[in-house]
Amino acid sequence: MSCSASKKIVDKPIVFNLERSELTLQYLKNRYGLEQDVPNIIPRMIVLHWTAIPTIESSFDAFLNTKLPQWRPDIESVSGLNVSAHFLVDQDGTIYRLIPETTMARHVIGLNHCAIGVENVGGTADTPLTKSQLKSNVRLVKYLAKKYNIEYLIGHHEYTLFEGHELWLEKDEEYRTTKSDPGNAFMAKVRKATKNFDFKPIPTIIQ
Ligand SMILES: [Zn+2]
Repeated sequence: MSCSASKKIVDKPIVFNLERSELTLQYLKNRYGLEQDVPNIIPRMIVLHWTAIPTIESSFDAFLNTKLPQWRPDIESVSGLNVSAHFLVDQDGTIYRLIPETTMARHVIGLNHCAIGVENVGGTADTPLTKSQLKSNVRLVKYLAKKYNIEYLIGHHEYTLFEGHELWLEKDEEYRTTKSDPGNAFMAKVRKATKNFDFKPIPTIIQ
């Protein structure tokens, strides 16, 4: 059976050298006001994503290097730290771990200091997320929720609902991006399958 491929977590590390470590520490300091000696996080949230890139190779390559490809160091307000995530789930459900679960990855504005990121390969018109990916996301959420004190499970498209929440630390009110990944339908299925963990409800917009 092909299901064995999705059973174990495969370590496939991206580059995390001294440069990435320093860029991460800078990010924590400049964006969140957190001065740390090591770029660690205490996980309290899981954020699910899709890469909008159709293949595992290209998705991995997008996260591999330490600096954002288009980074202009002369724009000091913008961090050069490349985006990444802790996990990357291929269309066949194989789960790759890209960095340690308690190291900070840049994947969600405002919340990276406490959020574990799970990226899914695909999300384009030709590569919608698969049933195997759904199963692997559920497995990963269960694994992480047993290991850490996870309070929130959110889709990337829901992140701005945390503005004003105690976990929201982004200092720049202008720094926002509009996200649609991974969508309400996918989140509803993952939430249904993990409802016994009683994650906290996400904040709703106050009238
Ligand atoms: Zn995303």
